Formats: sequence, structure tokens, C-alpha cells
Amino acid sequence: MSAKKVCIIGAGLGGLSAAISLRQSGYDVEVFEKNARIGGKLNVLKARGYTFDLGPSILTLPHLFERLFERSGRAMRDYIPIRPLRPHWRNFFENGQVVDLYPEPDRMAEEARKVGEDPASVQRFLRYSAGLYDLVNAGHFEQGIDTFRESTRFYGLWAFPKFDLFRTMHGGVKRFLRTRQMQDIFDYFVKYVGSSAYHSPAFMNCLPTIQFRHDLWYVDGGLYGIAAGLQRLMDEIGIPVRLESEVAEVRKQEGRVAGLVTKDGQYHPADIIVSNMEVIPAYERLLGEGKEFMRTLDRFEPACSGLVLELGLDCQYPQLAHHNFFYSERQREHFHTVFRRRELPPDPTIYLVAASRTDPTVAPPGCDGLKILPHIPYIDDAHPLSREDYLAFKERVVDKLERMGLRDLRKHVVFEHCWTPLDIREQYYSNRGSIYGVVTDRFRNLAFKAPKQSTRYPNLFFVGGSVNPGGGMPMVVLCGQNVAKKVVAWDRG
Ligand SMILES: Cc1cc2nc3c(=O)[nH]c(=O)nc-3n(C[C@H](O)[C@H](O)[C@H](O)COP(=O)(O)OP(=O)(O)OC[C@H]3O[C@@H](n4cnc5c(N)ncnc54)[C@H](O)[C@@H]3O)c2cc1C
Repeated sequence: MSAKKVCIIGAGLGGLSAAISLRQSGYDVEVFEKNARIGGKLNVLKARGYTFDLGPSILTLPHLFERLFERSGRAMRDYIPIRPLRPHWRNFFENGQVVDLYPEPDRMAEEARKVGEDPASVQRFLRYSAGLYDLVNAGHFEQGIDTFRESTRFYGLWAFPKFDLFRTMHGGVKRFLRTRQMQDIFDYFVKYVGSSAYHSPAFMNCLPTIQFRHDLWYVDGGLYGIAAGLQRLMDEIGIPVRLESEVAEVRKQEGRVAGLVTKDGQYHPADIIVSNMEVIPAYERLLGEGKEFMRTLDRFEPACSGLVLELGLDCQYPQLAHHNFFYSERQREHFHTVFRRRELPPDPTIYLVAASRTDPTVAPPGCDGLKILPHIPYIDDAHPLSREDYLAFKERVVDKLERMGLRDLRKHVVFEHCWTPLDIREQYYSNRGSIYGVVTDRFRNLAFKAPKQSTRYPNLFFVGGSVNPGGGMPMVVLCGQNVAKKVVAWDRG
């Protein structure tokens, strides 16, 4: 009997992970990608001797990527060269204080003392974080839990107090850490899911353990090396990818999906379809679902978007580490402005990557290439922002960086590239320009994203940041593996 045909819409990391996992389970897999290269938001820009990661720049939980190689009898190190970074993050505050994050307790203790935080409190917080990570990892991550009911079945009601459900993420941080600097830093781990520490549930404090226990990694030559490594693996195990092949429609027949139509009008029949296009745009644009059904998806509000600014400089700022954060004076206000009022923050917290600090291949000698990423609201049609609004905001970001130590930054720019949420939506068809899929919000969805199997068409599945467990590279890679298990269980069940 010939293998069943699975068509995958989108070659983001979730789509690639699902493709590899399904191929390894014996399916005939084909991937359709609208852009000219694979990787989705894992993207790269090379110009004038600089290499910039246009998307992710922090690799965590590499063991989840490793599984894709192991299942084909290969080792990831032969495909993707990675190494841990020190410090993990460098944190700059308006009062001039600078604090580094290290996973080693003795080095971390020194950093805590710099701002008057008791090192023992940091370790107590990290133990609390580790407990939450073990809890969330056992069910939500590894079992691929999709609904509250599945969660109750797996954990049992007795386990719920362990999730610290009555606190926000910030509330959990504040229980242990006294200084504003340490609170701001650990609140900002919510960056990994593009949400707000004041509106996410406390169990999101599992995030620091991802870094403190499993380390923070870099891919030599830039993070696009992950996509290149996966491409090689796919070539070896026989997964064709059609680039510049936008899917325009998913055809339905008798309550199932039957195949897809690409923009050039060609029909491709499929037994199973996996969409790496986000859930809301896929139902709306490819399946033409009506308003009533679309309203049931309202709780899957987008995570934040970002202003993605790349600057090639003719000098280096030696005070920068590889990963840097420049904090808002009032981070609570920053979160409220972005996530509740959905306005551009007057004083944002800014993430800045200077990969040239540890990798000399990504910038000309003696020069830094910077990627700058403040989180900003997703596109809200009720309060539209123009390109000019975003560009005015960009100037505020550069002003803040100049004020906080990158003196004369503007004068040293020899190359500039900037993407607004409008560009991000256009590039990846992400819902309203979101960069991490669905938001994590304790009242809107208690961190649940959409389920991996369609509630309408049993042979339609979803993968990526808009479904559980949500955004971030390792999570979508895990999602691809879990969606493959779901497909197999449904198909052979
Ligand atoms: C600026 C930025 C910084 C980030 N930083 C980090 C970080 O440091 N660490 C981290 O872990 N994560 C980070 N993330 C998040 C991470 O990149 C994403 O969560 C993850 O890569 C998303 O993968 P995905 O599978 O959901 O799909 P996506 O990457 O969104 O890919 C979806 C793919 O589907 C294609 N597609 C959509 N519609 C169609 C269609 N109709 N037909 C054909 N193809 C279609 C798109 O072109 C795209 O290639 C960052 C993201 C951004 C944008």
C-alpha cells in the first residue's frame, strides 16, 4: 500500500518539524512555502559584510531539535554547530547599573549583590521556577496537552495549586525578589512568548529554568544555520519543498479537507493537511469560514509584534554583550501600554543583539552589527498606526540607546534595515503582525493556544506559534513532533 500523502502549508520551524516527524513515521510529505526560502520567521539578512538574524537570535532547549536528527539516526552536531554563551543576558538600567545573567550560582550571586538583591532570594526564585518548569514540561510540553480538560485528566485536580494560579507572572517574581532591577529582569523572561508579565499566569515563571538549567545557545555563523541544517536533513530523508508556492485555498469535501490549491491554480490532493499558517488567517483566508465560527477563536488573541531594526556600524561598542536589554524606567507602564492600550510605548524595554561580540564572521573587522527589537502592539485595525508612526517610534528607540550609553549611535550607522508589524504580517502572513503566535494571558486563555487538530475537519491539523504550547523556536519544534504523534494516533486509531 502506498504511503498516505500529507501536504504542509508553510516552511516555518513548526512546519519543518512536523514534516520531518511525519516522514519519519512513514508518510509521503510535501511542503508548500510562499517565500523564497525555508525557515519562516527564522530568517536572515546579509548586506555589506554584515549578517543579521532577522528573526530569532536566542536558541534554547536544543535537545528538542536534537530529537529530529536522532530519529533518523543522525547527530545534530554534524548539521548545526552550536555553543553556549556567557553571559546569557546583559541588562542595562537608566540609573547606570548593569547586571549580567549567569547560570552558575556563584557568578549570579555577584551580579545580584550589585543591585542589593540577596543572592539566596535569586536561588529561591530559581527553585520555584524549576518546580513550575517540571510541572509544565511533564504535561503541557511533552504530552502536547491542548485543552483544559486534557490538562485536568493528566494532572488531576489536586495538582492545580502547584501552578500558582492566583498570581500573575510578576506576582510570582515579586514573592521572591525585592529589587526593582531583578524584578524587571525576571519579568522580562516573558519576552520568550511575546506577552506581558502583568497579564500572564504565574506558571510562566517556568521560563527562566529553560535558560538556567538548559543553557542559552548560539549557532556559529548566525541562527539561520538551524534552517540550513534542517534543509540538509530533509534532503537526505526525502522531503520535497516547493518554494514560492503560496497556498490560496484549502478544498473541502464531505466534512474533510481534500487538498490545496496554490496561487498558480494547481490543485494538490492530500489525505491529511498540516497548516503552519496560523490558525486564524488559515480558517479565514484558506477555508473561508464564516463570522460565527471565527468568533469562537477570539480568545486566541495575537502575541505582541515588534519593530525589527538592523544597524550595521563602522565601530564597536565594547560595553555590549551578545544579548542585551535596556529597561524601561517604568516597565509596568511599558507592559500596559503595549498589551492593554495597544499603543507605541513612550519608553520601551529594548532587546539588542550584538552577535559580532562573539562571532567575528557576522560583521566586518572592528565593526558591530546590531539587531534591535522593542516589543510593540500587534496591528489593531481599530487604532491603525502608519509607517510614519513606526518610524517616529524608531527614533525614540535610538534616542534611548544613545542616552543609555551607545553614544553617537546614529553617526556610526553605515547600513540600516527596518521592519514594522506591517512588513512582518506581509512576510509571514502572521495574524496581525504577531511575532510569537497567540498571546499568553491568564484571563483570555490561561496560556492555552488553539488545539493542534481542527475542531471542524478531522484530517486538518495545525502547527506553530498559534497552537499549543505556543511561540518560540523550541516550542514550535516540539509542536511539530507532537502534531505528528496526533496525526498518527488519529490516522491509525
Ligand atoms: C524578530 C523576532 C525575534 C524572535 N526571537 C526569538 C528568539 O530569540 N528565540 C526564539 O526561540 N524565538 C524567537 N522568535 C519567535 C520564533 O521565531 C517563532 O515563534 C517561530 O520561529 C515561529 O515558527 P512557526 O512554525 O510558528 O512559523 P513561522 O515562522 O511563522 O512560519 C510560517 C510559514 O508559513 C508560511 N506561510 C504562511 N501562509 C502561507 C500560505 N498561505 N502558503 C504558503 N506558505 C505560507 C510563511 O511564509 C512562513 O514561512 C522571534 C520571532 C521574531 C519575528
